[in-house]
Amino acid sequence: MVIELANRVLATLEENGFEAYFVGGCVRDWLLKRPVHDIDICTNAHPGDVILLFPDHVPTGLKHGTVSVKMGKHLFEVTTYRTEGKYEDYRRPVEVQFVSELRLDLERRDFTMNAMAMDRNKSLQDPFCGQEDLAAQLVRAVGNARERFQEDALRLLRGVRFAAQLGFSIEKDTLTAMKETAPLLSYIAVERVREELNKTLDSQGVQIGCQLLYETGLLDFSPGLKRLFRQSLTESWRLTKLLTVSQKWSLLMFAAGFTPVDAKEVCSFLRMSKRDTETIIGFVRLLQQLHLDWDAPKTIEWGPLLLEEGWETCQGLALLLQASWSNSPTNQLIQELVKVYERMPVKNIKELAVTGLDLQIVLKKKPGEWIVQVLKALLFETALRGLPNTPEALIEVAKKEVADNEH
Ligand code: ATP
Ligand code: MG
Repeated sequence: MVIELANRVLATLEENGFEAYFVGGCVRDWLLKRPVHDIDICTNAHPGDVILLFPDHVPTGLKHGTVSVKMGKHLFEVTTYRTEGKYEDYRRPVEVQFVSELRLDLERRDFTMNAMAMDRNKSLQDPFCGQEDLAAQLVRAVGNARERFQEDALRLLRGVRFAAQLGFSIEKDTLTAMKETAPLLSYIAVERVREELNKTLDSQGVQIGCQLLYETGLLDFSPGLKRLFRQSLTESWRLTKLLTVSQKWSLLMFAAGFTPVDAKEVCSFLRMSKRDTETIIGFVRLLQQLHLDWDAPKTIEWGPLLLEEGWETCQGLALLLQASWSNSPTNQLIQELVKVYERMPVKNIKELAVTGLDLQIVLKKKPGEWIVQVLKALLFETALRGLPNTPEALIEVAKKEVADNEH
C-alpha cells in the first residue's frame, strides 16, 4: 500500500531526529475521504540530509527544498519547511528561505484546507482551522486574503478550482478579495491559467466553477474568455455529461454562440495544443452545422458524417449531442451511431477493393485531385448505397464519375 511506503519515509526521517509530516492536498483529501493522488511530505531536514537518508531519490527542486524520494514504485515529494521571500510580478517567489518551524511552512500555503499537516499517528497540526472550514465547506485564504492573492495571483484560480472540485463556497472576505485582485491574473503565464481552467471544467461542481469565474471577473483580462463564460453560463450544467475537456470547451463555445473563428481565437490565446485546438474547432463547426436546439432531439444522419469525420469525432459528437438533449434517453445516440457504423460494409478509403493507382491505370489519367474525389464517391456508394466492393463494380462507377465530372 502507498500509505505504508509513505509512512516509511516519515519513520526514517523521525528515527534520524527530524520532524516529518504529510502536508497539503493529501491531508485535505484524507479528511474528506476523497481519493489521494499525490502524497507530499514536509520536514525540518534540509535537502542535503534528505538526500543522504534516501539514496534512491530524484533531486526535483533542490533550490526550493524539494527532493523526490523513491519507495518501491512510488515517488514522494519531501520538502524542507520554508517560507517564501519576495514575490515579483504577482507570481511565485524569487527565492525561498528554509525555516525550522512547521507553522511558518503552513502559513505560506494558499487556503486553510491546504495548510494542515498530519503525522504518522494521524495527529493533525491545523493552526489555521482548516478542519473547521472543511466541515463548513469553505475555501478560505490563510491570513489576509488580499495580500495572499497579491503575492501569487494563480491562487485566485486555484480557489475557484477547489470550490468546483469539492462543491464548496468561497468564504466572504476571500471572495471580496478575489473580486478586488482579479485583474492581477493577467500576470500569470497563460499555460498555468489554462491548466486551472481545465481542472475546473473537469470537476464535479463545474457549474459552481463557471458561476465563480463569471461573478469574480477573473477572466475579464481576456475579452474572449470573458464573453465565453458570460454567455454560456446557463448551459454549464450540461458539462458533467461529457468525458473530455475538449468536448467541454466545445460545448461552452457552442452555447456562447462562438463561430469556429471565435473558437480558434480562444484556443490560441490559451496556447492549447494543435490537436486540442483542431478537435474543439471541429466540434464547434459540426454543432453549428446541425442547427440544434437545446433539449429538442432530432434525427442525425450518421452515415455521411462517419465517412466525412471518422469514428472518433462522431463518438465525441454523439456525447455532445447527448448533453445538448439531456432529455433524451442516455446512450441512445451512441447506440444509433454504433449501429450505423457496424452496418457499413466499408469504413474508409483504404478498405476499398481498388486503389488510386488502379484508377489511374484503368482510366489512363494523370494523378490529380480527381483521385480522392472519385475514391470518396466510391466509398459513399459502397458504405451507404449497397455498391459491391469488387474491382469490377468500383471501376464501372469510377468511369461514370470521371465522365460526369468531365462534362
Ligand atoms: P491537487 O494536487 O489535488 O491539485 P493540492 O492541494 O495537492 O491539490 P498542489 O498544487 O499539488 O495542490 O500543491 C500542494 C500544496 O502546496 C497545496 O496543498 C498547498 O498547500 C501548496 N500550494 C500549491 N500551490 C500553491 C500556491 N500557488 N500558493 C500557496 N500554496 C500553494
Ligand atoms: Mg497535489
